[in-house]
Amino acid sequence: MAGKAPESDPVQDAPEVSGPKHSAVGLPAITNALRVSRQQMGVKRTALTLLRVNQKEGFDCPGCAWPDPDHRHAAEFCENGAKAVAEEATLRRVTPDFFTSHSVADLAKRSGYWLGQQGRLTTPMYLAEGADHYSPVSWERAFDIIAEELTDLASPDEAVFYTSGRTSNEAAFLYQLFAREFGTNNLPDCSNMCHESSGSALTETIGIGKGSVSLEDLHKADLIIVAGQNPGTNHPRQLSALEKAKANGAKIITVNPLPEAGLERFKNPQTPRGLAGGGTALTDLFLQIRLGGDQALFRALNHLLLTTDGALDEDFIREHTYGFEEFAAVARDKLDWDETLRATGLTRAEIDRALGMVLASKRTIVCWAMGLTQHKHSVPTIREVVNFLLLRGNVGRPGAGVCPVRGHSNVQGDRTMGIFERPAPAFLDALEKEFGFAPPREHGYDVVRAIRALRDGQAKVFFAMGGNFVSATPDTEVTEAAMRRASLTVHVSTKLNRSHVITGARALILPTLGRTEKDVQDSGEQFVTVEDSMGMVHASRGRLAPASPHLLSEPAIVCRLARRVLGETSRIPWEEFAHDYAAIRDRIARVVPGFEDFNARVANPAGFALPHAPRDDRRFPTATGKANFTAAPVEYPDAPEGRLLLQTLRSHDQYNTTIYGLDDRYRGIKNGRRVVLVHPEDARALGLADGAYTDLVSEWIDGSERRAPGFRVVHYPTARGCAAAYYPETNVLVPLDHTADTSNTPASKSVVVRLEPTTV
Ligand code: SF4
Repeated sequence: MAGKAPESDPVQDAPEVSGPKHSAVGLPAITNALRVSRQQMGVKRTALTLLRVNQKEGFDCPGCAWPDPDHRHAAEFCENGAKAVAEEATLRRVTPDFFTSHSVADLAKRSGYWLGQQGRLTTPMYLAEGADHYSPVSWERAFDIIAEELTDLASPDEAVFYTSGRTSNEAAFLYQLFAREFGTNNLPDCSNMCHESSGSALTETIGIGKGSVSLEDLHKADLIIVAGQNPGTNHPRQLSALEKAKANGAKIITVNPLPEAGLERFKNPQTPRGLAGGGTALTDLFLQIRLGGDQALFRALNHLLLTTDGALDEDFIREHTYGFEEFAAVARDKLDWDETLRATGLTRAEIDRALGMVLASKRTIVCWAMGLTQHKHSVPTIREVVNFLLLRGNVGRPGAGVCPVRGHSNVQGDRTMGIFERPAPAFLDALEKEFGFAPPREHGYDVVRAIRALRDGQAKVFFAMGGNFVSATPDTEVTEAAMRRASLTVHVSTKLNRSHVITGARALILPTLGRTEKDVQDSGEQFVTVEDSMGMVHASRGRLAPASPHLLSEPAIVCRLARRVLGETSRIPWEEFAHDYAAIRDRIARVVPGFEDFNARVANPAGFALPHAPRDDRRFPTATGKANFTAAPVEYPDAPEGRLLLQTLRSHDQYNTTIYGLDDRYRGIKNGRRVVLVHPEDARALGLADGAYTDLVSEWIDGSERRAPGFRVVHYPTARGCAAAYYPETNVLVPLDHTADTSNTPASKSVVVRLEPTTV
């Protein structure tokens, strides 16, 4: 019945396995989307709500950051978008009575799936020191408790202000403003764990840490390389764009350790062929690469381009780039093919075939996600991708460019609004000029450093704007112990999750409005804005009545908290901002480049594109004023004999740490999450039959080990030597210090593991 949460925790984990699928979406996506929506919202609310997702006068999908086409379908959402909306617009409620009947100790034993299925939080809840049950608290008292803790700190840097990528531009701008007026740059965000490596590499090489292509560019490209990304599950509407590009004559190369159904064949439910026919084959060349072998692959392609007559765009290189000679000297003269084939696990013939497709292409785009960003050498890998595109002038012209595909719906917007522990001096100067206070200049903690600071007692208050920090982060036991050392943990949330039950000495849960809900302030109904993965900014207007009369919007929470903590010393008009969000946008327009006339421009239902110098006019605001070639040594992870390289990943019934269900339809797994995908030959060599149970034990360079017990072995066509399992269950295996160079992103895509007979 809609609105009824499962009582027993269904995660008994008895997975049924039927083998990978070779096509994605189609009718099953519709039936699944409607089934989940009806279970959470009922029939009428489902119809009302889903027909407003991603519509010009509607609300932005709280799922991923894929852009909206100018022409919107009546149903402009994917299966996972529907699940994300249903989870937020659910009729299920977590009321104070729920917390009376469930102690924190009891909730801590529950699965993330079960916690998330309980529904929307309705009331501010407080866990007093020594208590085992949350109890209701007034907003005033909640702000008092936070103010007490924050003002008692020896330094503002003992506080950490975390942001999840669902936070709107307006809330994010206010949040960073509050944290900085309070006195700290401790503003870690989920981007630290996902595309930080992309930001670092792109800022250095092209001068801006964002993708340079629009949706139209994808449709115009004649070669699209999709590397380390699984759009079928994580950005499903991207498949429509790939299908359109194919219809326009494009070729697609997929680079991935796993064959993913969404990149094999797309059954577009918006078309008869997709609903009843065979759909559209997408991938023309599948390069089943070893985990972390991407830098070696792009270096090999660059070597071949440098040694093929007429392959380079010499005018572009001469006019717009820097460092070509140094790079060419390395890539042209120093390639070791044996090492390349070992690192990639590919054959020379496969790489030559890819070269043929590259040479035949006039407009190439490379799309990527976590498969490239979560390795120790991710930053040099993404730099090598940029080298690859610069060699043929594939930046700053239609149908060509870099396309890091962002995860959370506004993760790029939050960064643009100043949610960054290493803010640019120019941004801080603009804040100081606009608001008349001196923001801190010392860099703050990113996610990994924040965990270390909590672990080591240097940080005492943890405040999260959305998200599920303890489940999203690596080294689970270390992170949970660190969180428990805090004096206060605060979560602004819509739904229950594990971070609410792994608490500091005291804890608060502050329930907030969802993106689907009306946000009415004193001046009337408000809208917020978001920025998608391609730099388009548009409005999002909630339409549903709030899940409870006790909810506050994210901007209202920040404004009231800021006034309570900073008092009358703060000359920032927090009340004016809470009264009317247009006032926030007027300030953003004066502080953040590209947002001039923000309120006027966002009135356009399609929104507006932010400037992107490399894309717009081949201007590269780098240290050299040019696009930079870089010549890093090729690196790749390796596993000793009898060990495998493990990547953590999502199932199809999952969005980041939110578990919608226990199936992974495209990989043929049903009703279970503790599975490890292993190549049959590797499994046989390890003496592991399909269906056997094993413990995963990660081995770290300092000799330490981490164990995740009780995984069902699934013989699966992965790349040789590479295994895969879901997070958050396997985050426990990723050492806190196992991070990418430069970006400090947890290297969750290449963890050395051994598989032992299970101990459970
Ligand atoms: S592709 Fe992403 S943004 Fe679009 S509906 Fe699906 S989850 Fe939402």
